[in-house]
Amino acid sequence: MKIAIFNENVLGVVKGDRIVDVSNRAGWNTENPHDSFLRLMEDFDEIKERIETDMDACSSFPLSQVELKSPVPGTGKIWAAPVNYRNHQKEMNAMFNNAPRTIEELGLFLKSPDSLSGPSEPIILPFKDRRTDHEAELGYVIGKRAKNIPSSEAKNYIFGYFALMDISIRGNEERTWRKSFDTFTPIGPWIVTVDEIENPNDLAMKLWVNDELRQDGSTKYLIYDCYKCFELANQEMTLKPGDIIATGTPEGVGPIEAGDQVRIEIEQIGSFTVDVKYSDKLVKEYSQTSK
Ligand code: MN
Repeated sequence: MKIAIFNENVLGVVKGDRIVDVSNRAGWNTENPHDSFLRLMEDFDEIKERIETDMDACSSFPLSQVELKSPVPGTGKIWAAPVNYRNHQKEMNAMFNNAPRTIEELGLFLKSPDSLSGPSEPIILPFKDRRTDHEAELGYVIGKRAKNIPSSEAKNYIFGYFALMDISIRGNEERTWRKSFDTFTPIGPWIVTVDEIENPNDLAMKLWVNDELRQDGSTKYLIYDCYKCFELANQEMTLKPGDIIATGTPEGVGPIEAGDQVRIEIEQIGSFTVDVKYSDKLVKEYSQTSK
C-alpha cells in the first residue's frame, strides 16, 4: 500500500495517478497526524483491511492536484549512514583528497528530527558561501519498538520505505550539524509499506538536478544493507515507532543552489521534485563565521 499525507493533513492511499482520502476509514485525526500515524502503524493489519474493503466509496483526487506532505508527520530521531557505498567513498576521496571512513568504522550518526520535510516543500539553504550537496538515499520508518533485534528480523519492524534526500553542507564540522538544518531531510513522495518491497537491497535510485542526471545507483551496492543498518541502530539502543533510518548515498553527489529543482526517483517507490531556495535570514549573518 502507498500511504500519503496530503493537503490539510488528510490520510491518502495512492492508486495509480489518483489519491484516495481514507481518513474516515482509518480513524485518522487531521488535527493530530502524529498520533494518528502511530496508531495507523500499530493497528495496521486491521486498518488496512478496513481501508481496502470500501475504498471505492471514498472520495479521490488526481495526484497532480493535491499537495503531498511528509508521509511521516513527525519523527523522534533520524539515524543516518555515513559513507555506505564504495564508489561514494572513492568520489569523496577524489573531491576532497581525504578518503572518508565508511559505516564499517563510523557506525551511524543522528540528524535532527526537525530537519524532516515533505515532497512539496523547498530545501532552504542557510549559506551562500558553503557548498551544499544533494544525497539520494533510500529511507524507511520503523513501525515497532525494537532493541537487540538482528538484521534477519528487520522486516518485521520496518513499516515502509520512501525516497529521502540527505542534504549536506560540506566541511569539517560534525555531520550532525552539517546535515540538520530545517528542510535538510525531504522524504516522499509516500510510504510504500514493507509487504510491497520484496527486496529493498536491490532498488535502482536516481537523482537529477534540473535536467542533469547526477546520481544513478542501486541499493544493491550498499556496504551495510537496509537490514544491517536497522540492526546497528537498535543494538542496546531503542528504536521507536516513527523513527527514520537513512541508508546512505551512492556516488554522484554534487552542489545545489537557489533556483535548482532536485528530483529523486527510486524503483518500486516513486519520485518527487523539490525546489531549492536561499534562506532570507541566515545567509549573511553566519557566512562570516563559517569558512
Ligand atoms: Mn547521507
